[in-house]
Amino acid sequence: MRKKIVAGNWKMNMNLQDGIALAKELNETLKADKPNCGVVICTPFIHLASIAQFLDQDIIGLGAENCADKEKGAFTGEVSAEMVKSTGAQYVILGHSERREYYKETPEILKEKVLLAQKNDLKVIFCIGESLEEREAGKQNEVVKAELEGSVFNLSEEDFRKIVIAYEPIWAIGTGKTATAEQAEEIHAYIRSIIAEKYGQAVADDTTILYGGSCKASNAPELFAKPDIDGGLIGGASLKAADFKGIIDAWK
Ligand code: PGA
Repeated sequence: MRKKIVAGNWKMNMNLQDGIALAKELNETLKADKPNCGVVICTPFIHLASIAQFLDQDIIGLGAENCADKEKGAFTGEVSAEMVKSTGAQYVILGHSERREYYKETPEILKEKVLLAQKNDLKVIFCIGESLEEREAGKQNEVVKAELEGSVFNLSEEDFRKIVIAYEPIWAIGTGKTATAEQAEEIHAYIRSIIAEKYGQAVADDTTILYGGSCKASNAPELFAKPDIDGGLIGGASLKAADFKGIIDAWK
């Protein structure tokens, strides 16, 4: 059985003090009322080491939102996968559309990042998804297939099994516009089918595929009820413990 996960993506929000307070609140809340799914919070790099000291990682996994495509050396301002791992984090988000668009991360760069993350035993949450223009042109399947082929379909079966996929239509991220549960299910099923073509049905059945894009407590139950949607990658609604908990409770 594949794992159900609700992962938070804090993006560039929360100073250190506010981030620690949020993680502490979440930690206490979920220790008192255990989730029925895996929970992960992905935070800015600077929060990781502090939060790792108190977070009960049996209940809440900790992750970064990015890592470098180089191992180490003269790359001013970059943070390597090994550094992320050394904070006590276990996960890393790679391929987020904001990284692809604003920081020009290409499939080749992302392929390197995935390899380095896995080399350092980080679990990768790999994001894919089409723009509004691509959806309107009916190209969404083509786009997500190319994104998988470009950066993760090179992996061995053993390594691919460690990847969590997050489908995030760019037009739904931070816009308040969610894909309908039917739209999301349709493409999740397609993603699972191309994983099956590449790695076989057993691997496809075991792959966790998250939905992301304006997911909140009010729409999560309908989305998560779909057979190929295994949870969510949550931006805005992960910044308040009560909102995030509301989404986690959709699995109850
Ligand atoms: P959102 O962001 O929930 O704020 O739409 C999701 C994401 O970008 O991961």
